[in-house]
Amino acid sequence: MNEMNGDRSAWLRCYRCWSQSLEIQIHYDAIRRVDPETGVPAEGIDEVQESVVQCLDCMHDQPHLVLQGDRVVPIEDRWERMVAGTPWVASCTVTVDQDRVETCSGPEGAESLTYGAFGEAGTREFFTHVRFHKHADDEIVVHLLVELYARSAQEASEVLEEAAQGQLEITSLAEESRPPAHASDEAH
Ligand SMILES: [Zn+2]
Repeated sequence: MNEMNGDRSAWLRCYRCWSQSLEIQIHYDAIRRVDPETGVPAEGIDEVQESVVQCLDCMHDQPHLVLQGDRVVPIEDRWERMVAGTPWVASCTVTVDQDRVETCSGPEGAESLTYGAFGEAGTREFFTHVRFHKHADDEIVVHLLVELYARSAQEASEVLEEAAQGQLEITSLAEESRPPAHASDEAH
């Protein structure tokens, strides 16, 4: 795969449907002095606070791409696995310290449990569905279904292992077929 590094089209595409129609949502943050005579804010430098690359064909976020300076670049260690990989669905549990989970009920419960289980990297990259959770002493056992992209079962397990914020147990791991390429795929 190393020969693909120099070829932008290898990674500058949707990892799911391989479309090259991408857009980026950029959120800026700025603090400016206000001119007391005119009310016009002074010139300043906008700080990029957050940016997300999305595919215009399938509308999914692209966690293998990131804005760096004035252009979008790939995240090493992630793009090859995601673009060349296939989706894997894991049924698993992650046992974490209860302090890692802000709230385990209500509308933000699932999000907070996912974050507690897989942290920032996993929350950005994985599709997760929290099935249920159990409290055991000071710990929470989170039962989840996770979809992630990898080139082999072993790689999928390693990625899950790396993202897990506590003891990980994978009860099943199955390869799914890749979504069809964007040409034959309007939206899903
Ligand atoms: Zn796409």
